[in-house]
Amino acid sequence: MSTAFEALLEEVKGAVDSVTVEEAHGRLNNGSKVVLIDVREREDFAEGYIPGAQNIPRGFLELQIEGVVNDRSASLLVYGHEGQTPLAARDLSGMGYESVAYIDGGLDAWVGAGYPSDRDRALSKAEQFRYARHLLVPEVGERGQGKLLDAKVLLIGAGGLGSPSAFYLAAAGIGTVGILDADVVDVTNLQRQILHGTSDVGRPKAVSAYEKLKDLNPACNVIPHQAYMTSDNVMEIIEPYDIIVNGCDNFPTRYLINDACVFTRKPIVDGSIFRFDGQVTIFTCDSEGPCYRCLYPEPPPAEMAPSCAEAGVLGVLPGTIGLIQATEVVKLILGQGDPLIGKLLMYDALQMSFKKFNIRRDVNCPVCGDNPEITELIDYIAFCSGVNLSEVPEELTAG
Ligand SMILES: [Zn+2]
Repeated sequence: MSTAFEALLEEVKGAVDSVTVEEAHGRLNNGSKVVLIDVREREDFAEGYIPGAQNIPRGFLELQIEGVVNDRSASLLVYGHEGQTPLAARDLSGMGYESVAYIDGGLDAWVGAGYPSDRDRALSKAEQFRYARHLLVPEVGERGQGKLLDAKVLLIGAGGLGSPSAFYLAAAGIGTVGILDADVVDVTNLQRQILHGTSDVGRPKAVSAYEKLKDLNPACNVIPHQAYMTSDNVMEIIEPYDIIVNGCDNFPTRYLINDACVFTRKPIVDGSIFRFDGQVTIFTCDSEGPCYRCLYPEPPPAEMAPSCAEAGVLGVLPGTIGLIQATEVVKLILGQGDPLIGKLLMYDALQMSFKKFNIRRDVNCPVCGDNPEITELIDYIAFCSGVNLSEVPEELTAG
């Protein structure tokens, strides 16, 4: 370092806040909201970083910081190589961020103090090529792509909703895509269920889906489940997966999946369609958000909820809804943006309008409420038949 630079550094150090690694560890683990920024180069970051850190190389800091945190009152911790971090902290303060401090000693001091570091999954050359357009997006990058490759997503149904979801999720590099469907391809499916072709008519949908997805992305671990979901197999089927994408077309399965996901705390990205209308939401199935039963404690009578086979559906509609589901899955995995948690998105294709409604967890919900009555799987066929409600929830069907 030149004498002039050393002098500048000393001056800047005197003007910005710093914390020890012990103080940083305390702030990062006491539940307060802290944005942790690693300003080293990407190659250094890939070798290891403080858990929770986001990487913005020093040269891009001013350009990219607002994409990571725009709230000027947010609490920011910065670390990097000695000599660059006090200057980075000064520049962030100069941009109006009110609470900025740098971590003295950076990653070396952190590791030296015995705290754990994280390391991203290294992408192979083939993965770097295949996902090149993802790597350019700051919110994805190698780190996000690694998360996608490590993710395990189960699609319930290889039909109208499952088809577009599965195609795009496999293309995006979701490492494991399970697809559950017990049916065989019927010619009337082909108007919308784009995983299957004319030559697949009469073949199991799970097999047809497997072949299409493997052709699209051979590295994707596609797991076909040619089965009906029942109380006997649901736990075993969903166990390996992180996220469940629901595109099923009947109420017993919806309630079954919901209850199983509440018991195992797995999020459901739920979609349904009816003629020109569709809806999407995320049931987190935990104390944070609602579950399906919070919205629909009881199933509607069968005549109030016709299936696609009974009511018809516009062929392009499940494409829109299935891709919104896939988008929400990718966002959940990346931890980016505002997912549809506690929000029901309703789509009207005729008006080309989207409306969002707030929904919330019902503390009296029979399965996810504070004092749940249902604590194990029940007979869902019996539960969904012969129910007579005076007030029918506006439920849509899928398929
Ligand atoms: Zn609930």
